Amino acid sequence: MDIEREKIEFDVLFVGGGPASLAGAIRLMQLAKEKNINLEVALIEKGAEIGSHGLSGAVLNPIALKELIPDYSEKGCPIETVVRGDEFLYLTKNSFFRAPFVPRYMHNKGYFVISLSKFTKWLGEIALEMGVNIFPGFAGKEVLYAENNKNVIGIRTGDKGLGKDGAPKSNFESGIDLMAKVTVFGEGARGSLVQDMAKKLDIFSDKMPQVFEVGIKEVIQLPEINYFSTSKGNDIHTLGYPLDFDTPGGGFIYEMKDNKVAIGFLAGLCYENPMFDIYDEFLKFKSHPFVAGIIKGGKVLQQGARTVSTGGYYTMPKLYVNGALFVGGCAAIQNTPALKGIHASMKSGMLAAEAIISALEENSFNAETLSIYKALFEKSWLNGEMLEGRNFAQALAKKGITKFVHLGAQYFTKGRGIRDGLSTEEDCTTLKQIKESDQAEAEIKKKVIDGTLYVDKLTGVYLSKTMHREDQPCHIIVHDTNICVNECYEKYRSPCTKFCPGNVYEIETDEKTMKRRLKLNFSNCLHCKTCDIKDPYRNIKWTCPEGGEGPGYTMV
Ligand SMILES: Cc1cc2nc3c(=O)[nH]c(=O)nc-3n(C[C@H](O)[C@H](O)[C@H](O)COP(=O)(O)OP(=O)(O)OC[C@H]3O[C@@H](n4cnc5c(N)ncnc54)[C@H](O)[C@@H]3O)c2cc1C
Ligand code: SF4
Repeated sequence: MDIEREKIEFDVLFVGGGPASLAGAIRLMQLAKEKNINLEVALIEKGAEIGSHGLSGAVLNPIALKELIPDYSEKGCPIETVVRGDEFLYLTKNSFFRAPFVPRYMHNKGYFVISLSKFTKWLGEIALEMGVNIFPGFAGKEVLYAENNKNVIGIRTGDKGLGKDGAPKSNFESGIDLMAKVTVFGEGARGSLVQDMAKKLDIFSDKMPQVFEVGIKEVIQLPEINYFSTSKGNDIHTLGYPLDFDTPGGGFIYEMKDNKVAIGFLAGLCYENPMFDIYDEFLKFKSHPFVAGIIKGGKVLQQGARTVSTGGYYTMPKLYVNGALFVGGCAAIQNTPALKGIHASMKSGMLAAEAIISALEENSFNAETLSIYKALFEKSWLNGEMLEGRNFAQALAKKGITKFVHLGAQYFTKGRGIRDGLSTEEDCTTLKQIKESDQAEAEIKKKVIDGTLYVDKLTGVYLSKTMHREDQPCHIIVHDTNICVNECYEKYRSPCTKFCPGNVYEIETDEKTMKRRLKLNFSNCLHCKTCDIKDPYRNIKWTCPEGGEGPGYTMV
């Protein structure tokens, strides 16, 4: 289809309205003001509003916030509570043990509990006040390159108003070409444009495989008198039940204001059992006597899911190419041992802003000039944090006692451990063929669901306020559905029907022909990106749907 597209030129374009891009845009405007440089800066976000796709724990290490906005308190930063004490527990099926000590990177006393959706909304307002052109409801669909196919010159936003068959409807609006001297990619974990770029620009070559965890999170309204009315700690982390030793992950429970609690459960996508369902594990976690005691009498207000890029230092892509920089989760920037990426993402955006200012001063935007970003990164506290966690996710992915030997050694050697550059596999390669016992275990299902405090997947989708117009091309591309119904079903029993927290994937059987077929309920999609990562045949590609759709988070 030949479409004439509007072209808008900016000096700098940020793709994604997460903490990485927003902090970057704010820092850029601050520096431009200091240096008296006139700049046209834009930021696009695929969610309907800034914050509507923001989901995190979240305990915020305020180090980057304090650097960026020292008067954050006067400016009304939405802090839920301040961490007054950490609790670190090991859960068995019916009981628990308090760890004798809390690992140093989990010392959160004095840090802030926030909702990422509220926090990014607030950062967005500040960026707007400073003159950033913010375009929520616009998804970056395609990277634009110069004729040499190497220099990034901007991005094309997605078309709106296409019918299911891909043909324009009466309300069709073509996507816009947003051109920039520098494009900053801040798409978060498993950025779809970054994935596309990797095929062209080799940004991940020579790097360790990207690895991820997926998390489900809820905000629950508690009764007025609750656990936190008397507890010493209001920042609780758990290991153990319901996961076995070989699957990394754990739970978190953070006190929010107004008798609300943030509760969530994460698991490494390196798991092996094809019947593994993060949603079921989350329900089991919530039903554990310790956790159930905390949330008793509560009501789920909002739910959502998202992946985190946990691979760390050795999995980071090349951070700069001609005309573009990578910040935050899409560049694997995350302090994995601390389970914190917000401050790290913010700092990476801020460093990118400094690099852009110096590129603007030189009026050169090639990789060589932009490489100052890497140099600034290496001099910053962020590099120290990344280095300390450089082998952590890789150690977590090891099995049995080996895992603990590596983790112990890393703890005492500030991250180096027994083997620096510990290897790991891509998450899409770790599933084992289905066994009878896997299926039997999966039958022990959601007995606890009551529709209020324990909700099923579809109610969860409803509570995430997720919306997609049904009459549009499906944004989830399954390259070959024969693989799904034949090979994948036979070998793994269609793990997509388990790992997708939105119940997007279903295998149906045609009543007449008795043939299986894949059904995609794409309007349920939570944009967590698990399917793009975990599918064992690399047969699923997640792309951005029409801008302004997806979850409508306000408090997670
Ligand atoms: C369950 C869970 C718990 C966590 N707990 C904590 C915690 O307690 N503390 C902590 O510090 N960190 C925590 N993290 C990690 C933290 O949330 C991330 O590290 C951080 O959000 C990454 O920031 P980002 O800006 O890189 O990406 P994101 O926050 O993912 O933001 C990216 C934004 O870009 C938008 N976007 C993506 N692609 C496009 C596109 N092509 N076009 C337009 N817009 C696009 C997305 O909609 C999104 O709004 C947690 C994460 C999860 C999932
Ligand atoms: S379809 Fe993929 S991205 Fe969407 S909710 Fe399911 S696993 Fe997540």
